[in-house]
Formats: sequence, structure tokens, C-alpha cells
Amino acid sequence: MGGQRIQIFKRFQEIQSRSNALRKEGKIIAFVPTMGYLHDGHLALLREGRKRGDDLILSIFVNPTQFGPGEDLDAYPRSFERDAELAKKIGVDAIFAPAADALYGSHFQTYVSLEKLPNHLCGLSRPVHFRGVATVVTKLFNIVKPHVAIFGQKDFQQLAVIRQMVQDLNLDIEIVGMPTVREADGLAMSSRNAYLNSTERKAALCLYQALRQAQADVQKGETEADTLVTRATDLIRSHPEARIDYIAVCDPDTLGDVKHLKGTALMALAVFVGKTRLIDNMLLQH
Ligand code: AMP
Repeated sequence: MGGQRIQIFKRFQEIQSRSNALRKEGKIIAFVPTMGYLHDGHLALLREGRKRGDDLILSIFVNPTQFGPGEDLDAYPRSFERDAELAKKIGVDAIFAPAADALYGSHFQTYVSLEKLPNHLCGLSRPVHFRGVATVVTKLFNIVKPHVAIFGQKDFQQLAVIRQMVQDLNLDIEIVGMPTVREADGLAMSSRNAYLNSTERKAALCLYQALRQAQADVQKGETEADTLVTRATDLIRSHPEARIDYIAVCDPDTLGDVKHLKGTALMALAVFVGKTRLIDNMLLQH
């Protein structure tokens, strides 16, 4: 499949029946869930999906349950026509783009929440976020019925949450993680980069610089997480536009803090640049 016609679905019942029919024909369904405003990071996931599935489904849904009060749900950038054009070029077969209130009825009360992984990193400053993510991804999996679903490592904690959820709930779906796609200067691509003015865009590079500095320090033999975090903090604080939410060095499986590096650790950080909260991460190989 792939190519000429792209089917667009707003109602979940229709794409669910389509997936049931494809499964009966023995087709492999690949799925890439997104919030839209597509960039090259999303497109890399779609290209991988195109390779892995006979049928490739993209969802575009700015999921209200993963935004907390005061976050950017209403401001989140949207560009459906452009997204559909890009998807068509890659060979997406179908887009599922439900209306904001279509996935949650007024009596909605069933959530998926993990006990441990959300108690670290972004989960600490965004308390309802991963419950919203796990819930919407479960719903989308039940609607789209994919054999394989593709996620980005840029949202490392999200990927960990989804892998754990799939294992815990015996979901019969292969989860594929793809490397972070970056701008030429190293800034991780994100739909939220659209919020940055030109001064902020320059300052935003400090996330990547802090990660690269930590990686270089570890390669030179640094093993103390505190030292790595202090150096990253100093680098980021040298930019007046930047305000640190967190910087952590953690175990890539449990996401729990690591004090002394042995083997591979993850450095993850969230930084407000102006009003925009950006995240990035890098594996530090000791
Ligand atoms: P979002 O639209 O931000 O919810 O992201 C949808 C998917 O794209 C998630 O699996 C993200 O991890 C992934 N993604 C976002 N940015 C990037 C990037 N720069 N490189 C690779 N994947 C990304």
C-alpha cells in the first residue's frame, strides 16, 4: 500500500472497522501517534513505520488529558492541511484525527496510570501528564489495532512508560524507539520550537550543549553525577532566557537517580526558554 490516496478519519468507529478488515486480510498495521504540527522527527518515525507495515496509520490528536492546568493545551500549534500533505508524501495510508472532545465522553472515568516510572523527571513537574499519555495511547491502540507502534527517544520517559504499560497489560504490540532528530546546530526538533523568538531560539541550544558537555566529561573519565549536573546547571544559567525545571542523571531503565556512573546512564533535562518548556536527553556511555 502507501502512496496516492490518503484516507482521513474523524470517527473512531470507522478507522477501527478499517483496521479489523485489514487484519482479516493478514496485513501488518504500523502506527505513529502524534499531536501534529509535524517536523522531521515525526517524519523519521513515519518512514520507519512505512518500512515495517503494509498499512501505515498516523494519528493527530492534541490530547487534553496529558496537559495540566496552566499548560499550553489551547496554544499548542496546529496545521492539519500541511501535516496531511507531508504524510501523503511519506506514503501514510490513513490519518486518524478525532475532534478534541470525541475521544472522551462526558462520563469518562477509566485511566491507565503507572505506579513508578512517572515519579521521576517530567512526571514530577507534570503530575497528570503520564496518566494522560498512557490512557490516550491505550485508547488509540484499541482503536487503530496496530501490530507495531513507533515512538521517539526524545520523549525518553514517555517511551519507557509505554514499553512498561505494553508489558504490564500484555498488549500484543511491538514498540519501536527511534533516535532524536535534531536541527543542524543540535537543537532537538519539537513542535514547541515554533514558540521561540530568535533570541530564545539561540538560547535553546543550551540544552544540547549541556548534554554534549556531560558526554565529553564522562568520556574523559568523570563518574560523579553531581559534578555533571553542576556543570550543566552553570552552562544553562549563563543564558538569561533559560530557567531550569530539572537536570537529572538516572538509570535508563528505572529512571531513578544515579550518583556514581557505572555503565550507561541517562542525562535528561527540562528547561524553560522564555515561556516554552523544552526537554532533551542523552545516554552517557561510561
Ligand atoms: P508529539 O507530536 O510531540 O506528541 O510527538 C509524537 C512522536 O514523535 C513521539 O513519539 C515523540 O517522541 C516523537 N518525536 C518528537 N520529536 C522528535 C524528534 N526530534 N526526534 C524523534 N522523534 C520525535
